[in-house]
Amino acid sequence: MTSTYYYKGNEYVPKSYASAEAGYWLATGASAAILSPLALTRKPLVKQVLKEQANNNLFKDKFIKAFENSGLIEKGVTLVEPQAFNDFSSEFAKGTNAAFKPKAKQILINTEKSSFLGFHELGHALNQLKSPWLTRMNAKFYGIGYAIAGWMGYLALFSSTKPKDAPKNIEDRIKDNCGKIAFAAMIPVVIEEALASHKGIKLAKSVGADNQMVQKLKSLYAKALLTYVGRCVLGGLAVGTSSMIMEYFTRPQKITNNDVWF
Ligand SMILES: [Zn+2]
Repeated sequence: MTSTYYYKGNEYVPKSYASAEAGYWLATGASAAILSPLALTRKPLVKQVLKEQANNNLFKDKFIKAFENSGLIEKGVTLVEPQAFNDFSSEFAKGTNAAFKPKAKQILINTEKSSFLGFHELGHALNQLKSPWLTRMNAKFYGIGYAIAGWMGYLALFSSTKPKDAPKNIEDRIKDNCGKIAFAAMIPVVIEEALASHKGIKLAKSVGADNQMVQKLKSLYAKALLTYVGRCVLGGLAVGTSSMIMEYFTRPQKITNNDVWF
């Protein structure tokens, strides 16, 4: 038996533990369902990367030249091949991914397989180290953006213990808007990725990449960007939806026909 309570002259029924539990499972299920297309967004990218590996020899010299011309060596940036630390099984070793590590100032890349991914990583390094302050600030926000989106996903699963019309503090406001905040926090990530590709393609052109190579880079990088747009949009949707579900299953409900109690 659930007991009711009064708040500002209205009577409320708190939701049961069973209701909160049902909400939790529904919210996590809905969130997983909304995020499930993310795995699919990576497929066309990986497919093209594996296909382009046959053309790696076209890109390799251009990539090394672009690195040398970029001014990044002077900033302390180094290329690290996965083979150098006996990595033969990761996605870096397979050449299906490359990365820039800002603190170590390292570009992790298998130039024997996928040099064409490297122009984009040079773009990341340029954004971090050789750009106007707004671009550098945005790049620095990259990791924080991911962290905030993650926290919002966690917060969305908390119960709403207050009635809907209760006065709100800052935490309530954050929770009420967690989907929008998760979405917004990922926007700098999308901007950084788009900028890195833009600069990478510019660098490739500057070292004489022909039109066909540029088209290949554009198509690859567009597919890569789609995965980040997906994380931003679907991530925000998943957080917002699970928060709404938890609210529905846990928020105390006002009893509206209590005027007979006067
Ligand atoms: Zn990137």
